[in-house]
Formats: sequence, C-alpha cells, structure tokens
Amino acid sequence: MYVDVHAHLVHPAFAGEEDAVAGRAAAAGVEMVVVTGLEPRSNRAVLELCERHAHLLPALGIYPVDALCKLVDRSSWQHPFPPPERFDVEEEIAFIDSVAGRLVAIAEVGLDQYWVPDYPREQEETLRKLCAVAMRHDLPVVLHSRKAESRTFAVVREMGVARAVFHCFGGKLNLARQIADHGYCFSIPPVVERAEAFQALCRALPLDRLLTETDCPYLGPDRDQRNEPANIPRAVRAMAAARKIPEREMAAAVRANFRRTFGR
Ligand SMILES: [Zn+2]
Repeated sequence: MYVDVHAHLVHPAFAGEEDAVAGRAAAAGVEMVVVTGLEPRSNRAVLELCERHAHLLPALGIYPVDALCKLVDRSSWQHPFPPPERFDVEEEIAFIDSVAGRLVAIAEVGLDQYWVPDYPREQEETLRKLCAVAMRHDLPVVLHSRKAESRTFAVVREMGVARAVFHCFGGKLNLARQIADHGYCFSIPPVVERAEAFQALCRALPLDRLLTETDCPYLGPDRDQRNEPANIPRAVRAMAAARKIPEREMAAAVRANFRRTFGR
C-alpha cells in the first residue's frame, strides 16, 4: 500500500537495528523501501541488507559531497559532518554499472551548492556519468538538488533521463511546476506534517507527480526524533490533508506513480 523511495537504512543511526526497522516498515503497511547508497562502503552495505528483505530494494549512487572526495580541502573543513573518505570515483561508477541489473534506481546522485559550493563542474561530471549508467540500464535516478535545483534539472533534462525523482525539493514552486511538466516526480518526506513548504509543494503539483520518501534518519515528523520508513503513512495523511482529498486516494496515486517510475 505505501512506498518509501529514499531511505538511508545504512546509517550509523540504525546500526544493529536495520532488520527491526525493516520489520516495523512492513508492519506499518510499507510495501517497498528503496534503500539508498552514498559512496563505496554504504553502496555495498545496501546490497547486502536488501538481500535479507524482499521489501527492501537497492539503489546505489555517489552523493555529490562524496563525489568531491579527492578535491575538498580537509584542513579548512568546518561542516557538522566529517569530510568524505577518499575513493576512486571512476572505479565506483564502474562498480555501480556492473551491479545495475540488481538495482531499482541510481541514487543518491545530484548537485549540492549548500555544503559544497565549490567544484560545480566536477559534481556535474559525476552526475552526468551516473545518469548515463541509469539510461543504459533503463533505471530512474533519485536526485539531491540542494541550492542547485535548476541546474540539476537542466543536467538531467539535457542528458535525456526519462524517469527522475527530485527528493526533498527546496526550490521555487514555479520551477517545481516546470520540472513536473517535463514528467519528473517529487518525493515528499514525513516532515510535511509540520513543514508548510512541503504542503505547498503537494498542492502545487499534479497528483501524478507525487511520491513519498523518508530520507531517514532525517526529515521525520517529530522534532529531534529519528525518522524511519514506518512513518510513511503519516506523510500520506499530511499530503492528503494539504490537498483536501481522501487519504486513500492520495495513497493510491503515490502507489501508481511508484509503479510508473520504478516499474514495480
Ligand atoms: Zn538522502
């Protein structure tokens, strides 16, 4: 009945509890969870975790911050998370390509002008290469576009990507409408319960462009509490309320959009 298109179940916040979290998702009626990788270590762990649960579906990618692992200046790094571990980006793209037959999407990929405003050209290069992998294997891409929404749209459109999901979209509604017109979807997290910007996005877009995500452990409905896929029904309820439509109709639309985008 419910779907989560973007979950970081491979994350220190879930260490040792992954199987319990997967069980709670199923108990809450979450039929499928797209588990997302960021770099070599999480990509491999995602594959392993998804082997154990039929309702967990793997998506591998290279997060835009990690894509700059060889370029970022470690000595001046001041973000609340450590600088990315170094790895060979080309080799990882080749690895993702080699296991693409087992994936339901290429994710997480995209552009970031919030945490890493430098090196936009190098970020784009990695995004383009991963879009090419997605197209070669007829997979959708799930996009990070923080403070780089219009550029991310331009790149995937230029590449000719057929199916894309903008996750946690923070851009203008006008741009969102253009992206939706082009046929791409948006995934809405459970924080929509208390985040008016996401409620406005739900109202601004056509019903057939809306999906649900958790981006867990982030973007939960309850402040300062770890988010998890079992919260998806709360996202659907808040989305339905924002659009003033029955919850059942909202859930059915999201499920149909998932089938069209992810092919299952
Ligand atoms: Zn994410």
